[in-house]
Amino acid sequence: ALKERLESVFNTLKGKGKLSEEDVNAALREVRRALLEADVDYKVVKSLVDSIRGRCIGQEVLDSITPGQQVVAIVYEELVSLMGEDVVPFIISSKPPTLCMMVGLQGSGKTTSAVKIAKRIQNAHNPLVVACDLRRPAAIEQLKVLAQQSKVAFYGPSGGTQDVIKVAKEALAYAEDHLNDVIIFDTAGRLHVDEDLMEELSRLKDLVNPHEILLVVDAMTGQEAVKVATSFHEKLSLTGVVLSKLDGDARGGAALAIRATTQVPIKFAGVGEGIDAIELFDAKRMAQRIIGMGDVMGLAEKVQQVTSQEDVAKITKSLKKDKLTMEDLLLQFEQIEKLGPLDKVIDMLPGMGKMKELKNAELDPKRLKQSKAIIQSMTLEERRNPQIIKGSRRRRIAEGSGTTVQMVNQLLKQYDQMKQLWKYMGKGKKGFRLPKGLF
Ligand code: GDP
Ligand code: MG
Repeated sequence: ALKERLESVFNTLKGKGKLSEEDVNAALREVRRALLEADVDYKVVKSLVDSIRGRCIGQEVLDSITPGQQVVAIVYEELVSLMGEDVVPFIISSKPPTLCMMVGLQGSGKTTSAVKIAKRIQNAHNPLVVACDLRRPAAIEQLKVLAQQSKVAFYGPSGGTQDVIKVAKEALAYAEDHLNDVIIFDTAGRLHVDEDLMEELSRLKDLVNPHEILLVVDAMTGQEAVKVATSFHEKLSLTGVVLSKLDGDARGGAALAIRATTQVPIKFAGVGEGIDAIELFDAKRMAQRIIGMGDVMGLAEKVQQVTSQEDVAKITKSLKKDKLTMEDLLLQFEQIEKLGPLDKVIDMLPGMGKMKELKNAELDPKRLKQSKAIIQSMTLEERRNPQIIKGSRRRRIAEGSGTTVQMVNQLLKQYDQMKQLWKYMGKGKKGFRLPKGLF
């Protein structure tokens, strides 16, 4: 699995400081191979690898986890964000009836998924499934039987009509009579995308004006799925995808590629032939599946935790020093910037949980940037001995950092306050008051 490969690439790296470009490239070769093996479209692989590279290079190597794990966590996060972290729900119109069309190639799982979705929402709604696959008589019967088994209302033509529009109109009237508030149209598929099929679906779409057009895609079709999704999306403007047959040994590359290429959210995952075998699509689980290892999710959390812990350790270490330099301050600003909301940092600092005052302090990112710029405009000597920064130096620093002398003064004053504070905390005293306007 990718995890093992990456770990062997990075085995020698511990304690090396930052991940170098070569190290990262070696790892990315493995990532690329693993993604292609998972059937991810090569264009998608390329852009994914590029963004992973950007995030990896220059990453500090952490002490408590291997660089391989670090990269796996980054890959995982990128996969999740590519597939969409948030579940996009099935649209229920505020003005009933909600109208939904199932489309897709033959055998992809449209008929099954139509009934699965209807059954899922049956507690809260009164759904109706409609047979609009009129090419094969058996298709109507299949939907009818599945619906009956699941006690879902069904509408289908009794005669041998081929007129999809007529059936759809009748179904709408039937639904009105029977107070069906969600109507799901099962449609015909083909072995390949063809004009004839698209034309029929377009006409049905124009009549029904559906809230949802769900493309059902067989997860086993791999890269082919992207082509299918693209052409259906062009013709019909899909609102969602149902990825069926994920219970098989499909690696799930299709999910990644479809979302990345069409931007259409994957809403459901079909995970078996049974009518209950449908789930809301979970990008996290899919990312794990693609990477092909057990607990990547846990790993990603651990990496975040460890990163924070090690950053906090750095802060606390400088707290323990008697002398605080501007460089320490700069480091702290950077750590704080990286760690995000100040209250999170506070929670992690030992013995500071009760510091309400600091917890409520707003961290102003703009101010933080300015403070950093000011320190960066100081010479090394000035950073180490800020007391030498007098009038003309202050003006120079202000100009260099694009700030004002007043702001430089303010930062120097903060520095003095923090120096006191650090000393105080370093000696383990508690209950001090926090200087106002620290950040
Ligand atoms: P349609 O031609 O698009 O309407 O596809 P069907 O709904 O008739 O499904 C085709 C076949 O795939 C049937 O045998 C289904 O039982 C099966 N199928 C559909 N969804 C799933 C799924 O999520 N998992 C598995 N294992 N089989 C499925
Ligand atoms: Mg069917």
